[in-house]
Amino acid sequence: MSETTPYPQTHGGCQCGAVRFTLSAGPARGGICHCRMCQRATGNAFAPLLLIPGDRVKWYGAQPREWASSNISWRGFCAECGTPLYLRSDDEFEFMAGCLHPDTPFVPLDQGGVEARLGWLEQLNGLPAHDTLPELVARVTSHQAPE
Ligand SMILES: [Zn+2]
Ligand SMILES: [Zn+2]
Repeated sequence: MSETTPYPQTHGGCQCGAVRFTLSAGPARGGICHCRMCQRATGNAFAPLLLIPGDRVKWYGAQPREWASSNISWRGFCAECGTPLYLRSDDEFEFMAGCLHPDTPFVPLDQGGVEARLGWLEQLNGLPAHDTLPELVARVTSHQAPE
């Protein structure tokens, strides 16, 4: 890892709660990847990723399922709910920031794969913004596992 940030111990997991993990404290590297593979693997505009060595990762519950997205990398996800969890190369994990506990002080230090960066991202700060609509919150019963 090149430039890093000190991270406290944290934890996280998938949306349904079947796959859970803890990450022990220490240096880690946050970044954003805009590449087409990360867009497709997350179904999203980009992937915010926390790079951490595998010896700092401890799993609980169900084991994540993996798919080899290339000859050097695997994409981990929950086999029950499909939540994308990480990108792995050998024993180095890049965790999707969205599956980390929200108190995790994720700090992206750079962005890669910018050849595929979507142009509309530059307009985000100018778009009208609102909280989740109260009428939606009132009629939805979440099946999401606790953090
Ligand atoms: Zn799950
Ligand atoms: Zn990528």
